[in-house]
Amino acid sequence: MSAVKVKNLHSGDTGGKGWLRRWMEYKDYDTVPFCSNISCINEAVHGGHVIKVGNADKRRYIVPLCADCNENKDDSFEFYVPEDDLVLLTDLS
Ligand SMILES: [Zn+2]
Repeated sequence: MSAVKVKNLHSGDTGGKGWLRRWMEYKDYDTVPFCSNISCINEAVHGGHVIKVGNADKRRYIVPLCADCNENKDDSFEFYVPEDDLVLLTDLS
């Protein structure tokens, strides 16, 4: 499994569960996934907006996140997610 370092975007987006639902439809999930943060074991409740860290790719992605990971807006909060979990925001809009 290839993991990518990401951090939360301060998008101010309140789409909430709408983004998780769209992610699940896109990925053909019929059960709620776990948080994509590979060091977290919570169930996802949000489709979190993230951006890759230290990467020339500055596009916005959606990944399933739990409330704790999604709401941590600390700029130093960086975490790894499976590359396969990243879905381009523009693919879900
Ligand atoms: Zn989490």
